Parts: sequence; structure tokens; C-alpha cells
Amino acid sequence: MKKHGLGSYRKREVAGHRLSPETLMMGYGYDPHLSEGALKVPVFQTSTFVFRTAQDGKDFFAAMAGRRDGSNEPPPGLIYSRFNNPDLEVLEDRLALWEDGEAALVFSSGMAAISTALWAVVRPGEVIVHSEPLYGGTQTLLQNFLPQFRVGAVGFPAGARPEEIDRVVAAARAQGRIAAIFVETPANPTNSLVDLAHCAAVARRIEAEDGYRPPVMVDNTFLGPLWQHPLALGCDLAIYSLTKYVGGHSDLVAGSVVGARGLIDRIRKVRSSLGTITEPYTGWLLMRSLETLKLRMTAAMNNARTVAEFLRRHRKVAAVHYLGFLQPDHADYALYRRQCEAPGSTFSFEVVGGEAAAFRALDALQVVKLAVSLGGTESLASHPASTTHSGLTPDTLERIGITPGMIRLSVGIENADDLIADLGQALAVG
Ligand SMILES: *Cc1c(COP(=O)(O)O)cnc(C)c1O
Repeated sequence: MKKHGLGSYRKREVAGHRLSPETLMMGYGYDPHLSEGALKVPVFQTSTFVFRTAQDGKDFFAAMAGRRDGSNEPPPGLIYSRFNNPDLEVLEDRLALWEDGEAALVFSSGMAAISTALWAVVRPGEVIVHSEPLYGGTQTLLQNFLPQFRVGAVGFPAGARPEEIDRVVAAARAQGRIAAIFVETPANPTNSLVDLAHCAAVARRIEAEDGYRPPVMVDNTFLGPLWQHPLALGCDLAIYSLTKYVGGHSDLVAGSVVGARGLIDRIRKVRSSLGTITEPYTGWLLMRSLETLKLRMTAAMNNARTVAEFLRRHRKVAAVHYLGFLQPDHADYALYRRQCEAPGSTFSFEVVGGEAAAFRALDALQVVKLAVSLGGTESLASHPASTTHSGLTPDTLERIGITPGMIRLSVGIENADDLIADLGQALAVG
């Protein structure tokens, strides 16, 4: 229990009834009476914190450095906002609830979360096994930066069957100790899936054979934290770009990781050293966003289904890569049913007529905005082949299935009929 007070108000049940995350978002982890009775967590816009006594200062620093008992646990009081801050502590407690995780950490971006988590576990000579395609920033980190520190990366395609993953893991083990298994599912923008339970089984097998468990890190930005729960499937970390659905209003950049306390404490030490934490006001905005997370993600999911149905019937649309349309004969169908709780609201579709037709349709949109990013209240459209995925070779684009006519849509919470009217008139232009 935290001694500095904001740790009270942590009840998770009422009369034996377990409370849901969406209920707990309104108050969990915050005691108004420690802040003049303020109903909401104030913005603690401060860089540093006052110690009651010199002994407290000594104890907090000893705890932070692990001098007290050799542990990586956080100190019992706040020191300095690069280490933590009340807004961010409450936010972290609330983020952990969606995954039923032991602890969470917030970061200045999704990439800060991903890179800090990786720095905490990799050593020179080791190899990261990962799914492909990955978010562009992650791909760059694995391919351009980590090799400078003799950390290798070996990929397997999203959609790979368990035997194929096993073959890639065996090849990676021949190169060096596996530092981590890093996966992103559904893959962007094709919505191919990676079998999370199988990745967790691989980690357990390596642990049984080598006495070391490579953490399974899941970039859960696309379906989480509502529709996919990696920790419940045996994975070690759920990683987020909070910039997307969790922030949800396209007005901030942040990231987080959720997992077991031991691993989180290791990552926290690296965060304190690198300074990749976010700042109090962004934390405050994220707490506000979390109060409507379930409402927003549910509304967007329902809109996406309506829009996807419309596109599927449109004569200028060749294909719609929407998880809700997977049929029992598709290789990903059974996995989707096991692993995902809903199809989410980001998907891609292919316009007949290639890049020229896709560009004409994109340029004609009036309600849907032309921008990268996803998960906001407003609908966004983008052209992966020429923007987010333009760094990939033509061969890779083709292998992954990113075609010149492909448009990615992040469906927002507008009126679905308005979105259909807009997409209909834009496709008519093309
Ligand atoms: C946006 C995104 C990231 C990077 O997050 P930032 O907040 O932009 O740093 C990582 N992974 C996925 C899947 C993303 O969509």
C-alpha cells in the first residue's frame, strides 16, 4: 500500500459484487479528501515533491536504487516527476484494471513504451522474435537501432500457423538467446492474426528447456483494452499506444505497458533512467478519456460493422478486410473466435482501379478526414502503401497483401449513415 495516500479508494467490489473497469474509471485509486475534497484528480503540475524529513528523502532514494532490499519496487513516496507523479500513478492503477494486470506504467508515447520495455530485457548477442508486419516505428527500432547493440531480430508473418512460428523460433535460438517475443495482432492494415496463446506456450517451453522465460510482449493497440486481453492468454506484457483508442480524441501522444509486478518494476527502472515517462496534464487527459473508453470503443465498433457491410456491397470495392467477416473456412477464423472479443473499428478495403482510384476516393472525402493514426472519435482514412507502409519493399508489400488500391479506415463515433453517405459519394467520384 502506498504511504503517500493516493493509494486508498482501491475497493474493487461492493458487497461481494465485483466492479467492472468502466465503473472503476470514475474514481479508483484516488482519495478526494487528500485533495481538498476535489471530486476529480487535480493536475499535479509539479516537477518535484517535498520530503517530510531528511530520513524520508534518504529512504525513498534507497528504495528507488534498490539499496534497501535489492528489489526494484518503487519507493514509498514521490520524489520527482521523471520517476512518477500522482496523476500518472492513479492513471497507471486504472490502466492495469482493464487487463486485470498487477501493475502498469505510462510513457510519453507508444514508441517510448515499446523501446523502454525492450531495453529492459535485451542484452547484446540476443535475438528478438517478432511478428510481421509491425508498426513502422517498432520495425525501425528492431531493424536499424537494436542491431547496433548486437541485438538480432527474426520475424514470422502474422497469420503464420503454430508450426511455422516454431520453425522461426528454432532458427532464432540457433542465433542466440531469445530476449523477447514481440507481437502485434491484428496486423496493420491487413487484420491478419497472431496466435497469442501459442506464443505464450513457446515462451513456457523455452523456460522449461533453458531456465529463462523470454517475455511475450503484445502490442495491443488495435483491439485493446476492450476486445483483446493478452495477459489472460498467458502473455507477459500488454503494450499500448495510448495515442489511439485509449486517448481516443486525437489530441495527445502517450503509451503504456501492463503486466506482472516483477517485470514492470524492471521496466520502471529503465523508464526512470531514460526519462520516457509522460507528464501530468497528459495523464489527466487520459483519465478523462478512460471514463468514456467503453462507450467510445463500443460505438465505433458498431459503426465499423455498418460501414464494412456497406463497403462489402459496393461495386467499386474489391475486398474488405474486416475481422467480423471471417468465415469458418478461413485459417484465422477459429483463432479470432478464441482470441478476440469483437472485430474493433479499424480495417482496410481495396478499391477497384488501384492507386489512382484510391487517391480519387480519398481526395473526395468530406466527412472522413485524410490522416494517419486511428482510434479517435472521428473517422480517418489513409493509404498504407504510400504512407505508413511506404518503407517496405514492393515484394514485402505484395507478400503481406498491401495493394495499391488499399485504403485503411479508422471508424469513429459519428452517425453511421453520414459516414456511408460520405464514402458512397467519394467512391462514386473514383
Ligand atoms: C501508433 C502506434 C504505435 C506507436 O505509438 P505512438 O504513440 O505514436 O508512439 C505503436 N503500435 C501501434 C500498433 C500503433 O498503432
